[in-house]
Amino acid sequence: MKKNLILVLNCGSSSLKFSLIEPENGETVLLGLAERLLSDQASIKIKYQGQTTKSTLPSPFDHQTAILTLVEALALYKLNLQIFAIGHRVVHGGESYCTPTLVTNEVKTLIDNLSRLAPLHNFANLIGINAAEAVFSNLPQVVVFDTAFHQTMPEKAYIYGIPYALYQENGIRRYGFHGTSHYFVAQEAAKRLNKPLSKGNFISAHLGNGCSISAIKNGQSVDTSLGFTPLEGVMMGTRSGDVDPGIIFYLINQLGYTTKQVSHLLHKESGLLGVSGLSNDCREIEDAWLKEKNPRAKLALDIFCYRIAKSIASFTASLTSLDALIFTGGIGENSALIRENIIDQLSLLNFFVSNEKNITCRFGQAGHINTENSRQILVIPTNEEWVIAEQTSQLLLNKLPDKE
Ligand code: ADP
Repeated sequence: MKKNLILVLNCGSSSLKFSLIEPENGETVLLGLAERLLSDQASIKIKYQGQTTKSTLPSPFDHQTAILTLVEALALYKLNLQIFAIGHRVVHGGESYCTPTLVTNEVKTLIDNLSRLAPLHNFANLIGINAAEAVFSNLPQVVVFDTAFHQTMPEKAYIYGIPYALYQENGIRRYGFHGTSHYFVAQEAAKRLNKPLSKGNFISAHLGNGCSISAIKNGQSVDTSLGFTPLEGVMMGTRSGDVDPGIIFYLINQLGYTTKQVSHLLHKESGLLGVSGLSNDCREIEDAWLKEKNPRAKLALDIFCYRIAKSIASFTASLTSLDALIFTGGIGENSALIRENIIDQLSLLNFFVSNEKNITCRFGQAGHINTENSRQILVIPTNEEWVIAEQTSQLLLNKLPDKE
C-alpha cells in the first residue's frame, strides 16, 4: 500500500478544517470540517467519494475529539495507513520562518511566542498541532506559514513610517498574510503563461472574507496589502481595511469607546457588513443590489471594488513589468460582477474585461477573462491545501527547491 497522502489541518479557535491530499497531483481524497468546537453543539462533516456524513462530537467537544473522530473515519475507509505526514497551516511565522518547518518543541515554543503578533490564530494553530501530535504520534508534523511567502518584501515595503525602534525592539512591521494562496496562484499563472515562476510578474487579488492584494516580481512577493495584522489594506467582509488612525483616537477620546470595542468594530462590524448594514456575504449584498436595488448594498460593493482597484493600481509601483492580474478567493473566483467593476476602473493600465469570458470563469473554472486588446487577466481557484501538502512532502523527502 502506498504511504503517500498528507493530512492537511487548518485549526481555528473553534473549528478544524482537514483534507487528505495526494501531494503529487493535488487530488483531494477526503475533506471535512469540525465546527463549534468547545461547545456542546460541536459537529463534524466528512466528505469522501462524493458522500458527506455529519455527526455530533462527544464530550469534551474539543480539537482532539474531532481528530479522533476523523481517525475513526480514516480507519473505516482504510486510508489511515496511507498517511505519510501531517501538514499544518500556521498563520504567523514572524521573521523567523520563511520555509516549511518540521515541528519540534523549539518550533512550538516559537509559534507560541509569535502568538503576541496573532493572538487568536497562532494559539489555535498550536492547539491543532498538539492534538495531532497526541493522536498521530508516529507521524512527522510540518508547519507551513501564511506569512512565509511575503518574507521577500524589501524593507521599504515592510517598514512603517513610525519610530524605527518599534520594529527593532517589538517587531512592529508589515508581515502580510494569505501567502500560501498568492504563491499558489502565481505558480499556476506562470504555468499558464508558459514561463518559469522565477520570471513571472503578477498582481494577485485574493478576495474572500479576508482580502489581500500582492505584487509578485520574478516569482517573489515584493508587497502586499495586509500588514502587521490582517486589518490593513482593502476593505473586507467584516474588517475595515485602511482607515485614518485618527478615527481610533476619536472613538476612544470623544465617543467613549473602549479599546476592546474599537477592535470589535474594526474587525467584526465593518467592511461589507458595516457599510451595507446587511451582511458580510458578498452573494447576499449582490442580491440586495440586483434584486432589490438596495442603495447601501450598492455603496458597499462600490467601495469594496474601488479600494481594490486603487490597491491594484498602487502595486504597479513595485513592478517593472506585469504579465497578468490574477483573481482568486471565494469572491475573486466566483463574482463576475465584482471582477467587472474592479477591472472597469483599471482601463488606464490597459485592463479590459471580456463579459463573455468573465461569466464563464466561475465555480472552479480557471481561465483568461480579458479582451484581446487587454493585458492578461486570469481567474485561478486557489488551493492552499495542496501547497501545504506539497511542501510538507517535499520537506520530508528533502527536495524542497530553492525558492524559485
Ligand atoms: P474565507 O476568506 O473565509 O476563506 P472564501 O474565500 O470562501 O472565504 O470567500 C467567501 C466569500 O466568497 C463570501 O463573501 C461569499 O459570499 C463569496 N462568494 C462565494 N461564492 C460567490 C458567488 N458565486 N458570487 C459572489 N460571491 C461569492
